Amino acid sequence: MRISIPPSWRTRVYRYRLVATKCKKCGVTLYPPSNICRHCGSREVDQVELANEKARLITWTVIYSTMEGFEKQRPLIIGIVETTESKARILAPLTDVLPGELKPGMIMEPVIRRIREEGEAGLVHYGVAFRPELTTSALNTS
Ligand SMILES: [Zn+2]
Repeated sequence: MRISIPPSWRTRVYRYRLVATKCKKCGVTLYPPSNICRHCGSREVDQVELANEKARLITWTVIYSTMEGFEKQRPLIIGIVETTESKARILAPLTDVLPGELKPGMIMEPVIRRIREEGEAGLVHYGVAFRPELTTSALNTS
């Protein structure tokens, strides 16, 4: 039996969080969050939420040979984005886009996506991915 959870429902509340830490000393925002600033070594960090921020695409790689459980995502695109306000760099899958449509600096937004499925049991993992902001093409017409 397959259990599917509508991504926009339960997951939005419980999983749609993109928690990072911001260093009180040097101001760097780190994702994944860390109790110790990887930039200056300070232990004085605050938790911050990044899910409401847009992000700029820095770089990406396209993976055509995927591991078992990721077949439906071929090709898998993994990108590094930088959030527009906190300037946190996030490594995450890119979704709803073809490799040829990606451009450095394009504006992305976080979404919850099915990341992988495990075998017959249909255990489904969700995670944060980034997709091009829907208005990006309209903004770039000038
Ligand atoms: Zn620091």
